[in-house]
Amino acid sequence: MNLHEYQAREILRGYGIPVPEGDVAETPDQARAIAARLGGPVVVKAQVHAGGRGKAGGVKLAQNPAAAAGHAATILGMTIKGLTVRKVLVAPAADIATESYVGIIVDRISQRPVLMVSAAGGIDIEEVAAKTPERIHRVAVDPRYGLLPHQALGLGLKLYRQIAQARAAADIMQRLYTAFYAVGASLAEINPLVTTPAGAVTALDAKIVIDDNELERRPDIAALRDSSAEAPSEVAAREAGLTFIKLEGFVGCCVNGAGLAMATMDLVKYYGGEPANFLDIGGSSNPQKVVAALRIITADASVRAILFNIFGGITRCDDVANGIVQATRQFPLKVPLVIRLTGTNEALAIEILTQAGFSALTDMDEAVQQAVRQAGGGAA
Ligand code: GDP
Ligand code: MN
Repeated sequence: MNLHEYQAREILRGYGIPVPEGDVAETPDQARAIAARLGGPVVVKAQVHAGGRGKAGGVKLAQNPAAAAGHAATILGMTIKGLTVRKVLVAPAADIATESYVGIIVDRISQRPVLMVSAAGGIDIEEVAAKTPERIHRVAVDPRYGLLPHQALGLGLKLYRQIAQARAAADIMQRLYTAFYAVGASLAEINPLVTTPAGAVTALDAKIVIDDNELERRPDIAALRDSSAEAPSEVAAREAGLTFIKLEGFVGCCVNGAGLAMATMDLVKYYGGEPANFLDIGGSSNPQKVVAALRIITADASVRAILFNIFGGITRCDDVANGIVQATRQFPLKVPLVIRLTGTNEALAIEILTQAGFSALTDMDEAVQQAVRQAGGGAA
């Protein structure tokens, strides 16, 4: 789950990291009022779940409340990486002497949280990582001990020569690590961490991604979810209890079980297709879930054929068949449907489908090939 910058800032502030105060506006008038209350120059920042807002024109400095309202009017409604901006953060603008990067991710290779820092922070950090990776310094953290003071200070000295600033940065890193762990994050990032001309070290941007598996035991964090900023298909899937991930291809997949869903996607690719989604309807069966799944898949304009691949165990094939029949009565399918099911109540399922005018296959290869062919892929 992604947090907005203003939410991430709030969390970091709660852990004692210096972050300028600020407030969120949904209209230019609100932005003007916040700027007037803060006094002095402010920065107006798009709140969307995407990086690169600065380059996209979603971060603007304003000298006075009227200018803040003007920038808010431009930024609100803007699209950044496919996401519509509905809120802006208005915060006091800082004077910047240097911009650094500080981030923590869960690293699969070292199987630990890894703290990364670079003195070349700011909007070009991706380029730094790609072209001059030696400018990024890393420390893998042993979760038994946490981030140790000497590790943090070592990295602080990679950022700043002045010992006071290196210590301030090290303190921020330790607080960031504590916050990262406490909220169940898979990523926590400050970019830029700035020094001001007066020498203070401050966080000017904050990004936190929460590991979804941590949400159940952290209701306070789960409550920060902003569904209006998420893809509508993923919101609908979550509400229906489906595991759904939108992909770039054209074969819609509806499968039970994550393993079978992945095997199905592999086979779609093997036969020359591209999956339009990962969708796991789950182990237990319920016709309503199938209806919800079909509604989500058919709403995707890039889907040219739909493939059902059901291995009936706890999932009963007749429940799935009933779901398909109910769905197609509620809304017409505009693309071909290929159904493969086998296992529990398979015969009953085939009877239900046949009576409704559908046919069903039991062989997985055959079904995938047919779906790819009907979607117009795999000609070679
Ligand atoms: P991002 O592009 O989505 O990562 O958005 P950031 O919040 O990191 O802002 C992008 C850039 O805008 C930063 O790297 C800064 O150079 C600049 N910026 C952001 N806040 C301020 C500020 O308060 N004062 C000044 N002078 N520049 C800022
Ligand atoms: Mn940033």
